[in-house]
Amino acid sequence: MKPAPFAYHRPATMADAVRLLAELAPQDGRILAGGQSLVPIMAFRLARPADLIDINTVAGLDGLVARDGVLRVGARVRHAAFHRAVVDGPLGALLAQVVRHIAHYPIRLRGTFCGSLAHADPAAEWGVVAATLDAELVAVGVRGERRLAARDFFRGAMETALMPDELLAEAHLPILPAGTRFGFAEFSRRAGDYAMAMALAVLRVEGGVIAAPRIGLGGAEAAPRRIDAAEAVLHGEAPGEAVFRAAAEIAAAAIDPLEDPETDAQYRRELVGAMVYRALTRACAPGAAA
Ligand code: FAD
Repeated sequence: MKPAPFAYHRPATMADAVRLLAELAPQDGRILAGGQSLVPIMAFRLARPADLIDINTVAGLDGLVARDGVLRVGARVRHAAFHRAVVDGPLGALLAQVVRHIAHYPIRLRGTFCGSLAHADPAAEWGVVAATLDAELVAVGVRGERRLAARDFFRGAMETALMPDELLAEAHLPILPAGTRFGFAEFSRRAGDYAMAMALAVLRVEGGVIAAPRIGLGGAEAAPRRIDAAEAVLHGEAPGEAVFRAAAEIAAAAIDPLEDPETDAQYRRELVGAMVYRALTRACAPGAAA
């Protein structure tokens, strides 16, 4: 099918983009970023926006800058930008590893980091990264700017705290200190498919024990999030199979699993346990620290 008819707008400035969004959002005007999620759902007539506001020509949204301990990712930064390490140290390496799990290369050339967060598919890899690292999301509208913590941003499947007339202008990711270790694990039926479950482990090993552990999950519940109870069991323990298994079991028990015709709740829990175990094993493997 082809999309239903719509009017196309191409603002040149941020001020014009948010003014158009304020005017058109009440009649389901939408931002068009990479179009890799919006255009397919329009083609299936699952969305029929009357107006599209294309931000691809808006100046100032293509920044990818490390400053003041934060990596700022502008709304026009494509997934493919992260194939190379965009910042020295563990954060650049983490993003370069995770990006390869997103769809296929042609999609990564168009789709955007912020578009993925705004779309909020439960199985989006960047959602897990944002939730695990406690990213800050910068929403801009005609009333001004709001800064939202990732834990408040993701509200459910395809649901965020963005107002319909707000544009996600930037995502801010904390730059991870040298020595931070990470491990990412994802299960999908075929390479490039959306994940059925994924886990990101970020931690340090200091004096032989785990410090500042973060465990983030995606694909398994309606929204990505950290699993505090799994982190608590890891903190202060020597890395090893027993504590990894304990964290994996806690995470598997903690989720409110998504279910679909192919995946029942129990299977999703087992996948989560396996992904958390794998992510921790990878994070603590010799040489995993960047
Ligand atoms: P668009 O499609 O342009 O927009 C998506 C939605 O977000 C729209 O509602 C739009 O209005 C809104 N939006 C976009 N940008 C903003 C903004 N800055 N502020 C406010 N609202 C905004 N993604 C994954 O994470 N993992 C996968 O494995 C994966 N597999 C895919 C496989 C296929 C075959 C396809 C077609 C897509 C896949 N995707 C996957 C989705 C892809 O990553 C998209 O690029 C991404 O989800 C949306 O980004 P976009 O820039 O294309 O947004």
